[in-house]
Amino acid sequence: MLGNLVTWLRILGYDTEYWKGDDKEMLEIAKKEGRIILTKDRGVARFAEKNGIPVLELMSSDVPEALATTAEAFGISLEFDRKRTRCPVCNTPLKSYGSRWLCDKCGKEYWIGSHWVDISKRLSEARRIFLERKSLGSNVLK
Ligand SMILES: [Zn+2]
Repeated sequence: MLGNLVTWLRILGYDTEYWKGDDKEMLEIAKKEGRIILTKDRGVARFAEKNGIPVLELMSSDVPEALATTAEAFGISLEFDRKRTRCPVCNTPLKSYGSRWLCDKCGKEYWIGSHWVDISKRLSEARRIFLERKSLGSNVLK
């Protein structure tokens, strides 16, 4: 349900897997690999909580909104860092060559093109939501 968010977390440099399989198996892997579960499924969120796996139940799949909520809960950075960005397709850390990035695993190449305007816009929107909530004193971990 949160495929789009996965792409963004990878761009921001976070090791993120998009899980399409069985819920129970996902929880086992999350536990084993020390991962945090982001979900829109209340049942999954409850089950993870009961099993002591860090979980964040997201109410919206809107990317800036979901990124802001994740930043609030787990302190992720909402700034693009060219040195730590990952392949949006396969999650491999990208190698930076001047103004380009290359994925060793899937061979994809990335550069700052016209789509970059949209990426920057969405990230600043996420930061705006984050700062706005912070100034209002809301906290999703309450
Ligand atoms: Zn790749």
